[in-house]
Amino acid sequence: NKQVLLRDYVSGFPKESDMVLTSSTIKLNLPEGSKGVLVKNLYLSCDPYMRARMKKLDGISYIDSFKPGFPITGYGVSKVLDSGDPNFKEGDLVWGMTGWEQYSIINETHSLFKIHHTDVPLSYYTGILGMPGMTAYVGFYEICSPKKGEHVFISAASGAVGQLVGQFAKLSGFYVVGSAGSKEKSFLLSHSHSYHISRMNSQLFSVLVDLLKNKFGFDEAFNYKEEPDLSAALKRYFPEGIDIYFENVGGKMLDAVLQNMKAHARIAVCGMISQYNLDQPEGAHNLMNLVWKRARMEGFLVFEYYHQYPKFLEFVLPYIREGKIVYVEDIAEGLESAPAALVGLFAGRNVGKQVVVVSHE
Ligand code: NDP
Repeated sequence: NKQVLLRDYVSGFPKESDMVLTSSTIKLNLPEGSKGVLVKNLYLSCDPYMRARMKKLDGISYIDSFKPGFPITGYGVSKVLDSGDPNFKEGDLVWGMTGWEQYSIINETHSLFKIHHTDVPLSYYTGILGMPGMTAYVGFYEICSPKKGEHVFISAASGAVGQLVGQFAKLSGFYVVGSAGSKEKSFLLSHSHSYHISRMNSQLFSVLVDLLKNKFGFDEAFNYKEEPDLSAALKRYFPEGIDIYFENVGGKMLDAVLQNMKAHARIAVCGMISQYNLDQPEGAHNLMNLVWKRARMEGFLVFEYYHQYPKFLEFVLPYIREGKIVYVEDIAEGLESAPAALVGLFAGRNVGKQVVVVSHE
């Protein structure tokens, strides 16, 4: 059983060497009396929140730290090989928390979702049909309280969550602008449903922006790394101000948005990835604008909304089947590639949802 372990707690930017690949033997059936499930892991999800789990959290968070010397855990898509839980049987496909390893025993079976729709790529259950999809859905439709005709801005707009927020907003008739940026991003269109990305260094910044506009149908997109003055950039795209900001990055972008809000704007704080590796998080300087603009800024955690998952599937599956939503995935092949894939999120190396393929079946 190949596994990816956390070597030790991490400070600053995570590195591949903070994780170590090992191998051990495992019996492919459950121990006598187990109420859990033994699964074969197919796809693993790399998510920004995993950075928080790489440090000692001292019980102050809603999640636990990873344990140094033990496999990393995270969302994944898996196939049940043996079950001690009557709700699951051999051959079932599930998504939920699993280990960064070929085979896992999952005891917390209540947190697993059974996969019933297999006419879409299975890897989608790490993204559009899993946690990031739910995040985009509740974040936009509930936390942003969108009203007809409003103007929406999304940061990290090409990512797992951002690309969906933008597409949901477009499908609902909003004006949508996204920001993203990286030197190394490029994409190759594959023949399948998803887009498999090749990492070539030679492409221009503008490739990503084109992706946002052409593939996802955003009204406008810009590369924040090319903008010397973020507030001026936002003024260009939102001369009358921003109604809704879907916040994924924090830091300087948040300050620029605070200077460009319309009255009664809403900021849904989904995440602040620009702060995750800093020892001292940056402060926001322009918070008084919340008062002047009578604006609302609200954080949320997706796991409080999982009861809405069946409703979400009914909403999103038709869009996927009819080709009205595209979902870009960045596929890393093999468990060995998982540390680099995870670390890459914090350098913006991923284009779209970062997935690791452990096994195709
Ligand atoms: P992405 O697929 O968007 O990957 C992360 C992206 O963030 C990178 O590709 C990069 O894109 C951008 N980024 C990395 N470092 C920086 C930086 N220093 N400054 C600005 N941008 C940076 O990730 P997800 O879509 O999975 O997650 C997006 C956000 O949503 C994260 O903040 C995450 O923590 C949050 N989240 C929150 C949840 C909740 O329940 N509240 C649930 C799921 C996610 P770029 O090219 O644009 O720089």
